Amino acid sequence: MKVGIMGGTFDPIHMGHLLAAETVKDAFKLDEVWFMPSHIPPHKQAAGATGEQRLDMTKLATEDYQDYSTLDIEVVRGGVSYTIDTIQLLHKKYPNTTFYFIIGADMVNYLPKWERIEELVQQITFIGVGRPGFELHLDDLPEFLQSRVLLAEMPQVDISSTAIRRRLADGKSVRFMVPDSVLTYITRSGLYESKSR
Ligand code: ATP
Ligand code: MG
Repeated sequence: MKVGIMGGTFDPIHMGHLLAAETVKDAFKLDEVWFMPSHIPPHKQAAGATGEQRLDMTKLATEDYQDYSTLDIEVVRGGVSYTIDTIQLLHKKYPNTTFYFIIGADMVNYLPKWERIEELVQQITFIGVGRPGFELHLDDLPEFLQSRVLLAEMPQVDISSTAIRRRLADGKSVRFMVPDSVLTYITRSGLYESKSR
């Protein structure tokens, strides 16, 4: 089995995440994509929702699709979420599965700073997708990384969770930027309303 792991904060999950997953799944003939919200990402401050809420929203966005699912391991484990720890665990649990880690262009550029990256790239292949505002090329990456990152074309989606949180704080619509079920969850829980976020 070939599985794409889509890691992120998903604060909240949006159409850019979903389209990236679908495009990569299609291009690389993956069987499934597993969305995996991190607990505390190593590279940034938590912005709005709790881990449980981000997990809830990711589940809502994926539950209608039998080839998509949500992994709760990082949120349940707590603490700072290092991908290397998670991948080692996944390999133990699913020895017959080949995992690919799907990342946007911003994260491709950031790869050299990932925890124990030399070790991590031996264990998983990355698939990078373009994202407006970030250049997607491998030339600037160290050589040991270049051969371990594949690239996929995707229709460019100029949406970020940051922009969505900002729009909500400003009272603007985010319909069609996030799945309807996620929008309902956000509205009901009053998430991201405060301007201080
Ligand atoms: P934030 O603005 O809070 O950082 P985000 O929109 O970047 O949120 P993340 O949860 O940080 O979302 O990203 C998870 C993964 O999805 C990352 O690899 C990121 O590069 C990728 N990604 C996010 N938005 C897009 C997009 N619009 N197109 C392609 N990839 C994306
Ligand atoms: Mg981000």
